[in-house]
Amino acid sequence: MKKSNVKNRIAIYPGTFDPITNGHIDIIERASKLFDQLIISVATNLNKKPMFSTMERVEIIKKSVKNIKNVSVDTFSGLLIDYCNKKKAFVLIRGLRAISDFENEFQMALMNRKIDKNIETVFLMPSEEYTYLSSSLIKEIASLNGDISNFVSNFVNKKMKEKIKC
Ligand code: ADP
Repeated sequence: MKKSNVKNRIAIYPGTFDPITNGHIDIIERASKLFDQLIISVATNLNKKPMFSTMERVEIIKKSVKNIKNVSVDTFSGLLIDYCNKKKAFVLIRGLRAISDFENEFQMALMNRKIDKNIETVFLMPSEEYTYLSSSLIKEIASLNGDISNFVSNFVNKKMKEKIKC
């Protein structure tokens, strides 16, 4: 059977999610309406040093998406395309905030397609109010004692405060 005919359409939303912001949630809500199953997958093999451990990020995301029925949370390491095949997913979800995201995302999408022509990358745009939002900006504001309550959930806000204190 061709992958495009598969009944259970599984999409993967990979990322660092350090931490998950309202911008990520916006993308998750949009993607969950387009596919039967959405797997949010936290990348574990990063060169970046995240603020939250992989397991902390998974727990925070689980709590943030608990009301969306067809969404699950997982981790991955190694080649994303191998992970997609393991999960029987043929769509990758990525968020596009601004032109600045485009170049890097475009390059990644084409490279992934080169590795496996069956995997499609679907780009979704968040609501305008989230287009300037990034996890790194949130971390910077929080570390300077700024108010991030408009950008993340109450739970993430609490976790960030705990993290910054220790
Ligand atoms: P990565 O390190 O893979 O970029 P991120 O957690 O920063 O991980 O982002 C994961 C995906 O979510 C990327 O496609 C990114 O463009 C998208 N994204 C991040 N922040 C936002 C936002 N505010 N609105 C829409 N998409 C976003």
